[in-house]
Amino acid sequence: MSSVSVRDVTVAFEAVQVFDGLSLDISEGEFIVLLGPSGCGKSTLLNAIAGLLDVAEGQIWINGRNVTWEEPKDRGIAMVFQSYALYPRMSVRENMSFGLKMAKTPRPEIEKRVAKAAELLQIAPLLDRRPDQLSGGQRQRVAIGRALVRDAAVFLFDEPLSNLDAKLRNELRVEIKRLHARLGKTTMVYVTHDQIEAMTLADRIVVMKEQKIQQIGTPDEIYHRPANLFVAGFVGSPQ
Ligand code: ADP
Ligand code: MG
Repeated sequence: MSSVSVRDVTVAFEAVQVFDGLSLDISEGEFIVLLGPSGCGKSTLLNAIAGLLDVAEGQIWINGRNVTWEEPKDRGIAMVFQSYALYPRMSVRENMSFGLKMAKTPRPEIEKRVAKAAELLQIAPLLDRRPDQLSGGQRQRVAIGRALVRDAAVFLFDEPLSNLDAKLRNELRVEIKRLHARLGKTTMVYVTHDQIEAMTLADRIVVMKEQKIQQIGTPDEIYHRPANLFVAGFVGSPQ
């Protein structure tokens, strides 16, 4: 059974149609990277999985359930975006607790999950600070922590590190990989236009161009056996 299954999906933006019946199967626990240049449809695909936009045709399945018409909050997913979007007046602890409070999670359970996420992300000493007292890298850790407390089976990341400088990006990349290993069965779908990020994070990479999947394969397969010239050029050449 696939953890995430995208079946023959088409998305319509007013006059524009994106994807011509796109399909993708992701296994439980897999780290999948959607890689491709700007405009190729990575965010659209991720948002369709998340339920942040409606699909015009086709279906989205998550953990064996057809979620095509379910609200994002009911899909068992957690999402991390490029910009941290933390609540500026709340402490780190409150930022991480907020979604759970809204969902009426009992207080002891909230505290347990926040403590565990904070420990995993090494932000426990920052829990009482406010976002303006944090560095960019720390803020993005909090944003990841906020997703982590949801205990979701599927994590969706949309270019979460692209606002950070190179050193922090490398550091957090390692952290995200370690997090995936420690969480065990959690499925991660990670969008990036950065080949190095894709190569180091992915179990499998989905290379996209102009809203079409060009190739799906392990980093090794994509690098050594590119399906076409586009894949060879995109994966081979640094930014
Ligand atoms: P990526 O994340 O790979 O940069 P997107 O998924 O954002 O690409 O965009 C894919 C295509 O869909 C692009 O051609 C883009 O112009 C179009 N698109 C995305 N969002 C909208 C929208 N809200 N309205 C119209 N077209 C959109
Ligand atoms: Mg995008």
